[in-house]
Amino acid sequence: MKGAKDIGRAMIAATNELYIQRKDWAEERSGKQLQFKASIGSGKATYHQSDGTNRIKIIYGIEMIQDKLCPEHARTWLTYKELAEFGFCIKDQISPLKLYTHTVLHEFGHLVQVILGARYSRSVHNKEFYQILKKAYRNNVDKQVEAKILASIDNQWLVEKICEPLVMGPLTQRREVRLNQTVRFDFEGIEIVGIVRKKNPKTCVVESASCGIYRSFNFRYESLRVQKIFL
Ligand SMILES: [Zn+2]
Repeated sequence: MKGAKDIGRAMIAATNELYIQRKDWAEERSGKQLQFKASIGSGKATYHQSDGTNRIKIIYGIEMIQDKLCPEHARTWLTYKELAEFGFCIKDQISPLKLYTHTVLHEFGHLVQVILGARYSRSVHNKEFYQILKKAYRNNVDKQVEAKILASIDNQWLVEKICEPLVMGPLTQRREVRLNQTVRFDFEGIEIVGIVRKKNPKTCVVESASCGIYRSFNFRYESLRVQKIFL
């Protein structure tokens, strides 16, 4: 999806801006020259990586970007929970833009955490990490990131789409989904209709003949919309 790539590039621009402003501090504190690179990855995986050398990477998964355009998928991400639970954003006002901004702050927060020596094995999302995130919001770094993301996207339609708050319907539960039932789901930004063929404990297999091609999808129950039948 072209829009997701544009968003990814805008997130990279915002991340680079944050890094340039903190490069001297980071190099002084870690005692070495650093090589920093933010890029777009092919799947969902979104992470910060410091391999102990002077290389630091931040990867934004293209499927993560797509997920955050869709209400049902967006709320399965830790960044959505953080925004809502820590009060960084009022729940009704969570838009894809707020989620992308928070994702940049979250991954950059890990970079700061590593430089400060506050990342320990098995304790990545620790108290120190959330102190870094809270401080970023207190210092309005979120406003800077938001502005940079918006300024880096040329497509006005896309800008409007990511600024609109996500409208969350009730989550679909496993018990509401029956075999051979018709369900709807989002795939790469398009709503598709399919039939439930198998129910697993956490996911189900949905078959769809959209675009004339039969395909099976494995979905978590909460990301499906159950077709309401009015008789
Ligand atoms: Zn994290």
